[in-house]
Amino acid sequence: MNKIMIVTGGSRGIGAATALLAAQRGYAVCVNYLNNRKAADEIVRNIEQIGRHAIAVAADVASEQDVMRLFETVDRELGRVTALVNNAGILEKQTRLEGIDAARLNRVFATNVTGTFLCSREAVRRMLTKHGGEGGGIVNVSSRASQIGSPGEYIDYAASKGAVDSLTVGLAKEVAEEGIRVNAVRPGFIYTEMHASGGEPDRVDRVKAFAPMKRGGTAEEVAHAILWLLSDEASYTTGGFIDVSGGR
Ligand code: NAP
Repeated sequence: MNKIMIVTGGSRGIGAATALLAAQRGYAVCVNYLNNRKAADEIVRNIEQIGRHAIAVAADVASEQDVMRLFETVDRELGRVTALVNNAGILEKQTRLEGIDAARLNRVFATNVTGTFLCSREAVRRMLTKHGGEGGGIVNVSSRASQIGSPGEYIDYAASKGAVDSLTVGLAKEVAEEGIRVNAVRPGFIYTEMHASGGEPDRVDRVKAFAPMKRGGTAEEVAHAILWLLSDEASYTTGGFIDVSGGR
């Protein structure tokens, strides 16, 4: 079976590391991104250099129309998707609940929750063995925040990841008999550009002492857990979670 992966938010950070590692493991990869075409093209070039097929597709995972177009593009240019990594995710400026309004809640939930649901739906429609698919795997990039709650920083983001956790558990059971495994990783403090969106680019260095391992993690360390969950080595694992968080 051809291995074909869609990584949402594959242009930077954890998604980019996942796209590159997947290519090394034999996947053709669709690198989805929102705005940063230059970064996405760079990942595609790196993948092509190791002899794998890759495409960059701009699509906002919060938009149903964009998600439909993303999957149709992959159908046409790469073939039927076999692995989906729901990685695209956002957070906004650090604040307590008093500073969170409905517009912000809608933005964070639209990308982190609606986006994960819509992409999962399109993947499942193509993977279900009862609809002629060949099965496949989905990995959701949740966060340790779903259980810690991120007080004083972004409890909205943490709650959105709580929804991702529930989706992981429910969908895994829904499709367990139909050739699809659904799992999640929960990263802790990972060195990426996401922390700049929270207003603190160097956040990992401030908080890393809270992790028992006393360091931040790399995007590659998260990518390895994602690729394991998608591999045949994880063939009896569904509805599962791997914390990639240095013990926190
Ligand atoms: P990042 O470096 O900020 O990268 C975010 C990626 O998502 C970019 O590729 C961005 O595209 C894309 N993106 C954002 N909104 C999108 C949308 N609406 N539609 C499509 N793509 C979108 O983030 P990261 O740190 O790698 O985070 C990746 C995932 O890991 C997120 O779900 C995050 O919540 C989770 N996570 C991260 C950490 C951490 O410490 N970094 C910890 C726990 C969980 P552009 O390049 O076009 O902007």
